[in-house]
Amino acid sequence: MKLKICHLYPDVLNLYGDGGNIICIQQRLLWRGIESEVQRCQIGDRLDLSDCDLVFIGGGQDFEQEVLLPDLQSGKDREILAAIQDGVTVLAICGGYQMLGQYYETYDGIRCDFIGALDLYTIGSHQRMIGNTVYRCSDACGGSILVGFENHSGKTWLGPSVQPLADVMVGYGNNGEDKTEGARFLNVFGSYSHGPLLPKNPVFCDHILSVALEHRFGACNLEPLQDDAETDAHRAMLERLGCKP
Ligand code: GLN
Repeated sequence: MKLKICHLYPDVLNLYGDGGNIICIQQRLLWRGIESEVQRCQIGDRLDLSDCDLVFIGGGQDFEQEVLLPDLQSGKDREILAAIQDGVTVLAICGGYQMLGQYYETYDGIRCDFIGALDLYTIGSHQRMIGNTVYRCSDACGGSILVGFENHSGKTWLGPSVQPLADVMVGYGNNGEDKTEGARFLNVFGSYSHGPLLPKNPVFCDHILSVALEHRFGACNLEPLQDDAETDAHRAMLERLGCKP
């Protein structure tokens, strides 16, 4: 059993250690005896997701999102759209999450026409949304609590065909106004949570792994792991932010 993973734009979209999510995914699979293979796809590389199980896209500054735009629009956008419509699992963080929507209009008025896979759009604001976060995932996303860190100027607004990933308990989330965080559509999980997100949120990581494994191999029952260190780190953040574990 092997899971095929694509890390998209690993050098350009890698804010706040988002690449650590790939390390966490591979290690939690390895601890269960499940192999994984990571294809790193940079600007200029050909993207083929026809045999991919899980795509990861990290976050980036406005400048980096503008830099990668011509490469994205050269065909990667259509490949990602097709993969999402085929049910491939995607975890996208902040700038990578914004990229899955219709467009991002930066605070400087630059219009980035993105993939349009998810019914959402983002508008840059003068208010930067920065700080530690606590979000409660919807039941459809596993129902766990997420601790993380956010830093974005973009305010993301969800359309009717997309569900929020979570409710905001601490922080801004999608836009600092409607108390939604992230997005869930088919097997796509979008979030504003940097950190990296997954190491301190092992329950959510395993939820994403289960979705990807079930899509590839059918029913999947991941053996529990000894998560004392991960759970301690998770709880420490909840206590620091005044939330009950
Ligand atoms: N550049 C985007 C914004 O400022 C995304 C930032 C990020 O990925 N942390 O909203």
